[in-house]
Amino acid sequence: MTDAVFDVLNQPPALEDYNLFTTDRALLQVAEINGAGWAKDRLTVYGQRLGDAETIEMGRLAHKHPPQLKLFDRFGHRLDEVDFHPAWHGIMALIIGEGLHSAPWAEPKPGAHVARAAAYIMHAQIEPGSQCPTTMTYGSVPAIRKDRHLAETWLPKIYSRQYDGSNKPVTQKTGALIGMGMTEKQGGSDVRSNTTVAKPVGTGGPGAEYIINGHKWFFSCPQNDAHLVLAQSPHGLSCFFVPRWLPDGSKNAVQIQRLKDKVGNKSNASSEVEFHNAHGWLLGEEGRGVPTIIEMGTYTRLDCALGSTGLLRGAVAQALHHVAHRRAFQRHLIDQPLMTNVVADLAIESEAATLLAMRLARAFDRAEHDPVEAAFRRLCTPAVKYWICKRAPNAVVEAMEVHGGNGYVDEGPLGMLYKEIPLNSIWEGSGNVMCLDVLRAMQKNPDGLEAYFADLIPARGNDKRLDAAINDLKTEFADLGEIEHRARRVVEKMMVTLQAALLVRHSTPDVADAFCASRLGGDWGHAFGTLPKGINTRAIADRALPV
Ligand SMILES: Cc1cc2nc3c(=O)[nH]c(=O)nc-3n(C[C@H](O)[C@H](O)[C@H](O)COP(=O)(O)OP(=O)(O)OC[C@H]3O[C@@H](n4cnc5c(N)ncnc54)[C@H](O)[C@@H]3O)c2cc1C
Repeated sequence: MTDAVFDVLNQPPALEDYNLFTTDRALLQVAEINGAGWAKDRLTVYGQRLGDAETIEMGRLAHKHPPQLKLFDRFGHRLDEVDFHPAWHGIMALIIGEGLHSAPWAEPKPGAHVARAAAYIMHAQIEPGSQCPTTMTYGSVPAIRKDRHLAETWLPKIYSRQYDGSNKPVTQKTGALIGMGMTEKQGGSDVRSNTTVAKPVGTGGPGAEYIINGHKWFFSCPQNDAHLVLAQSPHGLSCFFVPRWLPDGSKNAVQIQRLKDKVGNKSNASSEVEFHNAHGWLLGEEGRGVPTIIEMGTYTRLDCALGSTGLLRGAVAQALHHVAHRRAFQRHLIDQPLMTNVVADLAIESEAATLLAMRLARAFDRAEHDPVEAAFRRLCTPAVKYWICKRAPNAVVEAMEVHGGNGYVDEGPLGMLYKEIPLNSIWEGSGNVMCLDVLRAMQKNPDGLEAYFADLIPARGNDKRLDAAINDLKTEFADLGEIEHRARRVVEKMMVTLQAALLVRHSTPDVADAFCASRLGGDWGHAFGTLPKGINTRAIADRALPV
């Protein structure tokens, strides 16, 4: 008797042992356009490493086995440790080894933030949890650099590419990672409501030691070697550097209460903590805690946009791979016009996010020396974070549906992407807070809008739908009545128009035409897969295929 009835038929092969960089034509191109052409070889190696079956399995295991809290040893001594699966440490060694936590600071050069951004987008597709400690460390450097004493001890460890997950004083470690603690029970967006208090040990002032009491309701990566923490000091809300271990070799009194049971982001540890006479050192001036930590937030917001771009690309790559292999009704799904429309529409969304996120990364490279780029960065960081993080979840859900039932089974990669994707929209400033920040930036610095419009000008005259959108935007700003009420709509229009301009300048005519026709031309439905007729959907899908 033949066993043919038990043969596994028509199940696509796993998408593995592929190169995340060379198969992502949009990313490859924009890395070069934005000044990171020199990093191509390194990105190619990293893209291959991430796509290896072994790395993908490591990412899966890290998510399957979330960290466990180890509060006490068996004799009752406090440990405040987090136990991770070995796969987590493997992934951390990979991302830190690649320098995503510090390379642009440790080895500054033109295009360094863009090169890092490209690697970050790729890493998100395989294991996004490890990006939390990586991002917070990257964002902490500008603040730490300002304190000479801290910088001397800590920066060499932060710049190190040797991941060290041990729980020891920083002087005994090969590398160090940093976190941030702002959010309390009574308020996260409104950090001025923080109740945690800090009292100076002596006379106080920048670099001085304070004693901290209070709590943080969200405190990710409690295993990191230090956190930047907001607390109320005698002159107002201030930012403190709070190490895990004190200079005398004893443990700092940062007590973990519990780990959060999160919807996704499973591999990463997020905790609630209390400070019981913990020691912290003032970073910046007393009462200037928000500006000090907001500088960190600027970098972490960039990473939210990059992370969601990566998660989106990951889901779209999986969807395209699936439809290229799966058959239904005697034909491959990719050849069925309605499915081609769906995956092409997703591919456009992914490419538009990639161009937008990488354009923002370029502003991070140039802001220090170029006031126009600095103004662009200030205005567009919250806008880009808002828009990419807002669009990506819808697209990931659609990419899941493309897989049929397999998409909803957690053994595959879609479950992880689906559970991770809402997060970037929430932390580091939720949607409304981002849109209100765009308004604040506009009011404080009118150069921001000029810098934004300057980016649209080179695309003018190539597509009448884009030209009309640019004119429409100008009228949007002519009347600032009820601007807070309209903030989401205004930011949305700004970002879609910028995405269209970037695609017109840098993508293929097929992609640019499809984006302008659907997102600007008004001929688009409310779901993905509603591109109007006349669009070359097959060419768009082929361009995005991860081969
Ligand atoms: C997994 C995870 C990890 C985290 N890790 C950390 C961490 O390490 N450190 C840390 O400090 N925080 C962390 N956070 C907290 C996160 O940054 C906050 O949850 C976020 O900033 C929102 O604050 P909140 O939860 O207090 O919500 P709220 O501030 O209460 O906001 C609720 C809603 O109201 C909206 N809103 C607020 N103000 C306005 C307004 N003026 N107008 C209109 N709408 C408004 C917001 O957009 C949001 O949608 C983490 C969160 C998560 C989910």
